[in-house]
Amino acid sequence: MIIVTRSQATSEERQQVVELVLRLAGSQRPISAITMQERQVITIDGNNLDAQAHAALSQHSAVERIVSTQTPYQLVSRAFQSEDSLVMVGDLPGSQPVTIGGAAPVIIAGPCAVESREQLMEIARAVKDAGAQVLRGGAFKPRTSPYQFQGLGVEGLRFLAEAREETGLPVITEVMEPDMVDVVVQYADILQIGSRNMQNFPLLQAAGSHPARRPVMLKRGFASTIDEWLLAAEYIVAAGNPNVILCERGIRSFDPYTRNLLDLTCVPLLHELTHLPVIVDPSHATGRRELVPTMSRAAIAAGAHGLILETHIDPDSALCDGRQSITPEQLQTIAQQTRLVAQIMSDPAVLDYVA
Ligand code: PEP
Ligand code: MN
Repeated sequence: MIIVTRSQATSEERQQVVELVLRLAGSQRPISAITMQERQVITIDGNNLDAQAHAALSQHSAVERIVSTQTPYQLVSRAFQSEDSLVMVGDLPGSQPVTIGGAAPVIIAGPCAVESREQLMEIARAVKDAGAQVLRGGAFKPRTSPYQFQGLGVEGLRFLAEAREETGLPVITEVMEPDMVDVVVQYADILQIGSRNMQNFPLLQAAGSHPARRPVMLKRGFASTIDEWLLAAEYIVAAGNPNVILCERGIRSFDPYTRNLLDLTCVPLLHELTHLPVIVDPSHATGRRELVPTMSRAAIAAGAHGLILETHIDPDSALCDGRQSITPEQLQTIAQQTRLVAQIMSDPAVLDYVA
């Protein structure tokens, strides 16, 4: 259940409402109280306040609305917010801002890992020329084996900042532990929380409660249900950061032909369940670069708000995930084709033209 105060409510009135909720719900039940669009938004698990308690709350002059959700996640649900969320990306100086969640798909591209200054700068220029609006690059890499390249760490973050300065592309990079959120926020326009960390609750809370409210791209755990994923997103929002972007990156299945199974069904399903933007990652989903263009078009046709594509100047020599990395030339074709696909879906005039 979500209780929203009026935007004009004074801080004393807000506090009164929080205290009333605590009294009615019982002080043992965890609640979240955050500010969203100038309103105090208080969330309690479940809808089981009795009719009397419900009436007491709705009669309080500072309460604007009470929302009962039928789902375990609340703030990220469509029941709470019917309009799509738009996440503004590009807070840091030198970034050319971009909005994720609207009709125009956003292309995020770059190497799996930042390997060197030269490698990153060359790829950053090439992906920009190919039509990308955000640069990706892992500085901290969660590798399955401890003997694989682990990333350049903070040095990699500095190279990302330099690439942003030169190209104007906002950057996204992974943060793997709660204590590093503050450091990564100084460099990244979007914090990536990876598949392996989707249920790292202290990390979700740290990314959610950081005062910068930096956008977070939350990748789906490779064996996570949609409810688990949305509850992980709820942790970030309930901690105070509404700027969450979901990323479908494939789930584990039984057929070794592809690295994962790209669950495109989740895209229209998520649009029904949540107001958060959805990005698709065909690189990790397929593990094979020859499948990436087709699955990129399919993802946008399914309603994804954008794509994240591993791109490398020389994919075969990449230190990480080369097999699934495309070249800037392939990226350019994907960017052009997917923008056309999105236009066909959002602009009926295009259909008249084709007919
Ligand atoms: C990545 O984006 O390079 C990555 C490690 O992704 P995932 O967490 O989806 O495996
Ligand atoms: Mn990768």
